[in-house]
Amino acid sequence: MSEVRVRIAPSPSGNLHVGTARTALFNYLFAKKNNGKFILRIEDTDLGRSSDEYIQNIFDSLKALGLNWAEGPDVGGPYGPYSQSERFDIYPKYAQMFLDSGFAYECFCTPEELESEKKSAEENKQAYVYSKKCETRADKPAGVKPAIRFNVSKTQKAFRNTPELSFNDMVKGELKQNTDLIGDFIIMKSDGTPTYNFAVVVDDMLMKITHIIRGEDHISNTFKQILIYEALGAQVPQFGHLGMILAPDRSKLSKRHGATAVSEFVEKGYLTEALVNFIALLGWSPSDGQEIKTIDEIAADFRIHDVSSSNSIFEYDKLNWMNSQYIKKLDIETLKAALKPYLTQYDLSTFTPAQFTRMVEVTREPLTILSDITNDVPYFFGQGVEIEPEVQSTVIDTEVSQQVLKAFYEEAQNWKFTEDALHESLDTFRTKFKELGIKPKETMWAIRAAITGRVKGADITAVLAILGKEKVLNRVNKSLQN
Ligand code: GLU
Repeated sequence: MSEVRVRIAPSPSGNLHVGTARTALFNYLFAKKNNGKFILRIEDTDLGRSSDEYIQNIFDSLKALGLNWAEGPDVGGPYGPYSQSERFDIYPKYAQMFLDSGFAYECFCTPEELESEKKSAEENKQAYVYSKKCETRADKPAGVKPAIRFNVSKTQKAFRNTPELSFNDMVKGELKQNTDLIGDFIIMKSDGTPTYNFAVVVDDMLMKITHIIRGEDHISNTFKQILIYEALGAQVPQFGHLGMILAPDRSKLSKRHGATAVSEFVEKGYLTEALVNFIALLGWSPSDGQEIKTIDEIAADFRIHDVSSSNSIFEYDKLNWMNSQYIKKLDIETLKAALKPYLTQYDLSTFTPAQFTRMVEVTREPLTILSDITNDVPYFFGQGVEIEPEVQSTVIDTEVSQQVLKAFYEEAQNWKFTEDALHESLDTFRTKFKELGIKPKETMWAIRAAITGRVKGADITAVLAILGKEKVLNRVNKSLQN
């Protein structure tokens, strides 16, 4: 069998969407599983909607996910160029071939003519199919640049004696279409640029693509594309169409549900390993039921025929859970490096490296995404601390707390502020108050509230040690009523 060659062919009209990332991932996994090649082609024929910034975002996002391509616009390859905008001279040759062989014809219809055809189909409650008016048009208007239309019925008759066209989809099984319902479609616009269906087939043929895995929204295009392959005398690749990715409310995934671009997820602090793992489960499930897997483990287990043909739901909650699991597994040095970009508003130079490490150790537990770190760290910085108003009135200002804090302020002057020593000192301190009828929990609440401004948070002994005696006593002093 010839080498397996698959591609992802994004149009750079936006940042890389998670749906495109899932398609890219499944192509990548398929290539890896079959010792094939994963190729990147940028479909930027719509120059008005494409931008270099989006192309860069596509490169960066795919790379961040570890979906490295063997051939592409930046790395080249034997069948380049890999950006359609650099291939504009290729398509007219094939269009001319079709004109010569009669598989296509020039169309001079004006937008008004086409509109009136559509309108009358609508009035007769019929699906619109182009009238083929120009197939036999004798009067070619001078000076008008024609579009080029593909002749569906002619191709069908040349290759099949029935209008029924079917193919065996790797994901969805047999799919059929009556080609009489496919109107002769435009392959070259009057401005000389190719349409998507034409450019994609010419490129996939020239790039020797063997398998095309993409979203099911392309199924109607696939029938047109098969006809073009036939007319070109080219081998038709195998197709696999993936179900759509829907939002939790079953509507189309969009910005109002949350992030949709890979780069947005990365900025918020989702780990790319977690994202890849989560995206792989949108339509595919591991044979051992074990969902947390590396991309290599997924590739070893991946079979395109196991991919579900139905839609998948993008469960943000599940992604959050998965991300928190991946964060828990990170070693401390990697986590520290990953968190730094989210801590730029704080002056980390006030910490020794050991203090920074300890702060991350005691604040990592509740992290769902990396940016959550800002929830728990503000009280590690600055001389004073912002006290939540409710904490002030219900904790700090109570008689019991004031009694505890006064004693703390006096006694802690003589404490050593290392974690070990603080453990012991706090233990003795709590016991003393317990004997006075104050619960250890209440004692610690008062201290935590005065030091952090909150009633919950990181290990308080570690917080005291990291802040050091001076800051701690300062904050306690500020909490004392007189
Ligand atoms: N540029 C097309 C898209 O982004 C490619 C579809 C295909 O894979 O053929 O939808």
